[in-house]
Amino acid sequence: RDRAVEMAREAVEAAPAGIRALLRAVGRVAEEEGVAVYAVGGFVRDLLLGRPNLDFDIVVEGDGIAFAHTLARELGGRVQEVPRFGTAHIYLEPDDPALPSRIDVATARREFYEHAAALPRVEHADLHEDLYRRDFSINAMAIRLGSSGPSGLIDFFGGLKDLAAGQVRILHTLSFVEDPTRLIRAVRFAHRYGFRLEPETEACARAAVAEGFLARVSRERLRNELLLLLQEQGCGGALQMLAELGVLEALLPGVPLDPEVQGLVDAVDGLVEAEPELCRLSQLWLVKLLVLLHRLPLSAGVAAVKRLRLKRAENQACLQVLAGWRIAHDLMVAPHADAASIVAALAEWPAEGLLLLVLLGGGERVAAYWREWRHVRLEINGADVQALGVPAGPRVGRILQRVLSARLSGDAPDRETQLALARRFAAQEE
Ligand code: ATP
Repeated sequence: RDRAVEMAREAVEAAPAGIRALLRAVGRVAEEEGVAVYAVGGFVRDLLLGRPNLDFDIVVEGDGIAFAHTLARELGGRVQEVPRFGTAHIYLEPDDPALPSRIDVATARREFYEHAAALPRVEHADLHEDLYRRDFSINAMAIRLGSSGPSGLIDFFGGLKDLAAGQVRILHTLSFVEDPTRLIRAVRFAHRYGFRLEPETEACARAAVAEGFLARVSRERLRNELLLLLQEQGCGGALQMLAELGVLEALLPGVPLDPEVQGLVDAVDGLVEAEPELCRLSQLWLVKLLVLLHRLPLSAGVAAVKRLRLKRAENQACLQVLAGWRIAHDLMVAPHADAASIVAALAEWPAEGLLLLVLLGGGERVAAYWREWRHVRLEINGADVQALGVPAGPRVGRILQRVLSARLSGDAPDRETQLALARRFAAQEE
């Protein structure tokens, strides 16, 4: 136990100064208010691993909402209450980017749990109940906060041992049955920290998949967890692990996860250096999703996207790219680039679709399109073509397109030459 306290102290000491000050401030308010307050969950896990985590969750043994108000006054934040759950969010505007902009405050109080009488008698019964509802031992630790630093690490379920052993372990054998999204979460954490699934946990995971429990979960919850997983750096290995457990097939039926697709997924995060602007305009998880889906027959890809219930714009982008990437890709790798056709094909494409083409070997032409070709405008327009005697209609567009093609290859740099070309094309088209 002393060792655990020592470890908590060491972990806090190693944290950035701003985080240490924040933890002390929370501890001070807790002591003044006479309530026990704990940092919990992912924040504690990452503190012990020496990794930054800006999701600061605290649990109060007492009235969490009242505590949130007092703490917010102390820190200069704004409170949003969720009375039904006895929770509150404190919104802060820190100058220091290493500090959280939101603190989630939960209440651990026996009256929130109907079946409290059935609880085993343990010290901190309320906190125990709160932590027992969590997913994995490494996410179910708490650090008690005091004015002079942490006064203890609470580790009912052996999280510290699992952190040291590098394993993700569920708290009870029905955990995946109770909430099958934990199957995806387990893989996400294992991948992120280079951990394995503890053998009994893995057996429970396989059993839950075999029983088809994923089908019971709402599509939205599955989608949310899949997105979180796709947001992890280099998540190809995580997808492989999902595939191996049979979870991927339930999420994205038919997706081929061969080494090539896995390699492409892993290459997505590396695009930030080659194509910073396109990456800034993109959601990289969406690019990874497109990589996973692009090889499926179109109807299967479309069905997979629909199942995910993405937001409108994301859904639209996926469908557009899945339907058009083959033609666009052919243009990217054809021996001679017809810049005007490329401009026409890519004009309405989302940035994510352009990044897919970069990954598939079209980097050079995508770069030329993005930095150069799409900005090029002709010095003549439809009215000029009509003035040459071409009636309004699709012919005008075709002629302009051919002139643009010449302009992009450097053959028609000014209005004069463009008009001459338009005249020639009009004559040819008659
Ligand atoms: P990240 O570092 O990715 O934010 P996190 O551990 O903070 O990871 P969240 O999804 O923000 O993960 O969840 C916060 C905490 O809530 C977790 O540490 C875990 O204790 C608990 N939790 C979240 N989702 C579940 C779940 N499906 N079942 C049980 N506990 C959960």
